[in-house]
Amino acid sequence: MKAQVFRGVNQLSYEEVPRPEIAADEVLVQVKVVGLCQSDIKKIRYPLYEPPRIFGHETAGEIAAVGTDVQGWQVGQRVVVLHHIPCMHCDYCLNDNFSMCEVYKNITTTAGFNPSGGGFAEYVQVPGHIVNRGGLIAIPHGITYEQASFVEPTNCCLKAVTKAGIKPGQTVLITGAGPIGLMFVMLVNYVGGRAIATDLLPTRIEKALQVGATAALDARDPELATKIGEMTNGMGVDVSLLAVPSDKAFFQALDCTRKGGKILFFAEFPDEVEIPINPNILYRREIDLIGSYSSSFRLQKQSTDIIFNQRIDVDALVSDRYPLKELAKAVEQAVSPEPDTYKILIYP
Ligand SMILES: [Zn+2]
Ligand SMILES: [Zn+2]
Repeated sequence: MKAQVFRGVNQLSYEEVPRPEIAADEVLVQVKVVGLCQSDIKKIRYPLYEPPRIFGHETAGEIAAVGTDVQGWQVGQRVVVLHHIPCMHCDYCLNDNFSMCEVYKNITTTAGFNPSGGGFAEYVQVPGHIVNRGGLIAIPHGITYEQASFVEPTNCCLKAVTKAGIKPGQTVLITGAGPIGLMFVMLVNYVGGRAIATDLLPTRIEKALQVGATAALDARDPELATKIGEMTNGMGVDVSLLAVPSDKAFFQALDCTRKGGKILFFAEFPDEVEIPINPNILYRREIDLIGSYSSSFRLQKQSTDIIFNQRIDVDALVSDRYPLKELAKAVEQAVSPEPDTYKILIYP
């Protein structure tokens, strides 16, 4: 089968690799669509993992083979494949910090080499613990593979929205209107909040309005905090969601967030970035800083409900589709987006 093998920093190689052999409790899935995630791009462009590996984790496909011990799954079924599932009984899991669980962090779906997701290949091997513990999800009739590939990123964004405790009627600043920021706009609306988005690109500002933002502003606007103050009775937003790894965006969020409000870090910053802050700002204004990484098993049902019952319009997020062969080109485009680049999907 064909796969995109990570052979070193910025070295993707489109190769023939052996189709994975499955064990008795495993399932083989033919990948139909896999989303290109910001985290994939990081893994490809920075020396974070030893090569060779096959990344890709926002996977939707069709079951191509089932092990002899597998029950409840058949060849031909359409499924979403989750690349990690928490153990549900460690200290982290018992406190709903599923993304800190060692079992969760240990990715086991693979298309060969060190298990790393395996979505950037024609077939991916799904181990027994994922098959048996909710990591294989049937796609209902009427939902496309493209839509289904959004189950995982929707969970990640929903987790952030949930952690920030966004309530109906609250106003939320979303810094960055790329694929993640736009999904935040949709999810803030879904929970009954009002979204104000910022970006540098006029097309993205326009797009944020199209997908449901109450307002969308140029991130360079010197009057930004004043304008947001006017939209919030002089209070500032209840919550800011940082969807871009920028210290400027953080300080802007700090200026625009109300006393007693929250700022959530969603985007992963480059490791060398540090943000100097006077702690009295947080103390006097009682601002909570929150981090949110990856997905929550607790929100899995709600995430599939959002996608499978089309409660948000993920089709509006898709801007580009590439064959697996052109993954490197897709990564380039995601890194240097054109004005109308949003979510990029890969077709193995
Ligand atoms: Zn992802
Ligand atoms: Zn655990």
